[in-house]
Amino acid sequence: MAIALNKPLSPDLNKLSSYLQQVNESGWYTNFGPLHQQLTKRLEAYLGVENLLLVSNGTLAIQIACKVLKINSAITTPFSFVATSSSLLWQGIDIAFSDIDPQSYNLCPDALNTALEQDSSYDGIVATHVYGNPCDVDAIFQVANKHNKKVVYDAAHAFGVNVGEQSVLNFGDASTLSFHATKVFHTVEGGAIVFKHKTDFEKAKQLINFGIQADGTLGEPGINAKLNEYQCAVGLTLLDDIEKVIAHRAALFNLYCDELKAVVELPVWLFKASINGAYMPIYIEDEHLQQKVIDALIENNIQSRRYFTPSLDLAYSGQKSFGCEISRKISGGVICLPLHAYMTLDDVLVVTHLVKNTIKR
Ligand SMILES: *Cc1c(COP(=O)(O)O)cnc(C)c1O
Repeated sequence: MAIALNKPLSPDLNKLSSYLQQVNESGWYTNFGPLHQQLTKRLEAYLGVENLLLVSNGTLAIQIACKVLKINSAITTPFSFVATSSSLLWQGIDIAFSDIDPQSYNLCPDALNTALEQDSSYDGIVATHVYGNPCDVDAIFQVANKHNKKVVYDAAHAFGVNVGEQSVLNFGDASTLSFHATKVFHTVEGGAIVFKHKTDFEKAKQLINFGIQADGTLGEPGINAKLNEYQCAVGLTLLDDIEKVIAHRAALFNLYCDELKAVVELPVWLFKASINGAYMPIYIEDEHLQQKVIDALIENNIQSRRYFTPSLDLAYSGQKSFGCEISRKISGGVICLPLHAYMTLDDVLVVTHLVKNTIKR
């Protein structure tokens, strides 16, 4: 029996077509239409946030957040999906890498503080809640505050995650989401930015519509990053079931952890963080053993992926690095196992038995 690494949520076609029919009848296909407004309101309510701006993808979300916050140079994490760095470089933002914490795999607040003490010229910090595990948001807040830096969180993995009673999206000056088909919640392609300040939200809303101001006059030059009505229809359809989806993914994740914690290293989740089951990363230091596990998975038709590798300081070696030893080590041994909404608990046991038997052999 084959087990896929990931499987995008497929929207109920009856529900979806009734939304699409509404769009066809109104003739309002994009530009902040009725479905855009509905999806915005429902996401704000579900996530427990304000100032949420839908955008056309998670990459533009990062770029627009930085544009609005005037971040022209940033310290960022080397351990993330490539878009966290590539989006910044594409925009001409000067980036420098600071190392991750060996337990959480997220940007290390102490290393970040040391980096800023060495060179305080950076405008901001761009950190990823990698695999949906929140950064140490309190410690990063303290470092950012001390050095007077803006913070953008790439929360592409962290849809629906809370820290205590609070959405993880409520930390930092802005948090960005991706609604790509492979993510926990999606609109085929899409994303959002959650701003701390309403004024930043208003500015971003103009910028994603060419910089056209509310009164129709032109402000600062903008871009087109609007999410269209058809894609909002997918979002509205999928949002009906998202609570169930996340609960199921979390159950799969927790079972994986229980089964595997004695045989592999697992990232340590932030205290008080909720689980959304976005990914199932394991870390195996021994290269020979890593390969054995990967080969055994392939033989049994189970997809896995070395993710994230390479450490981004190696991919973008022309950028400054404050030292990324831990990121290089982790990216050399991390493997993501299958985890998606259509998997069963029994599927998880198939995978974990295989991993355990391969490691013991
Ligand atoms: C998916 C992802 C992005 C990019 O989002 P897109 O919607 O695909 O542009 C950015 N950062 C991280 C961490 C991601 O996983």
